[in-house]
Amino acid sequence: MRTAVVEAVLASRNQGKAAELTRLLRPVVAVVPLPTEVALPPETGATLLENACLKAEAAFAALGGRSAVLADDSGLEVDALHGRPGVLSARFAGETASDQDNLQHLLAALQGQAQRTARFVCELVMLLPLKDGGPCSLRARGTLEGTIIAEPRGEHGFGYDPIFVPVGWDHSIAEGRAEEKDAVSHRAAAARSLREQLAAAGS
Ligand code: IMP
Repeated sequence: MRTAVVEAVLASRNQGKAAELTRLLRPVVAVVPLPTEVALPPETGATLLENACLKAEAAFAALGGRSAVLADDSGLEVDALHGRPGVLSARFAGETASDQDNLQHLLAALQGQAQRTARFVCELVMLLPLKDGGPCSLRARGTLEGTIIAEPRGEHGFGYDPIFVPVGWDHSIAEGRAEEKDAVSHRAAAARSLREQLAAAGS
């Protein structure tokens, strides 16, 4: 049976995530931007999964429960920092911090540190209008192991990509092409799981 296309509103304004999820989920899910009038809630969850649920539920309710919604909460866990910034990845250097601020804050926190291992984690939550006994919520998680280098390298990607070298690579994610990141990333692994779950449910 051919899997139908699900249109899902992305509960995020992060253009980097939107571009990646659009590539990674097609042709099974068509990712639709969040209408400007829909406000996203503060990320008060204790875990990435809790925050993904908060964003998905808020957008689903704001859209009247009539549209499928997809939320992505992701972050970087650094072993020498006992898993930080983790759930705080987007605001590691402060509430209004830019990607550049966060990345520099992390490099400063690891100054002189020999242990540089870390992982990206992505939690995806999809909520679907309940019809015909189909699934109403799906969850998928993906991880990517690597190391944090001493200085940013490369222009591609977003967030912490310029300082993260995946295991088996000799360059940062930001030095590679989008297709290279898509072949190994935490978001790609989660997206693959989500596509498989949708196919199994016959959506
Ligand atoms: P949130 O999921 O919106 O809370 O923010 C995720 C944080 O982790 C942001 O600071 C992102 O820049 C960072 N992040 C998430 N995924 C990636 C990625 O694939 N590459 C680099 N940084 C990422």
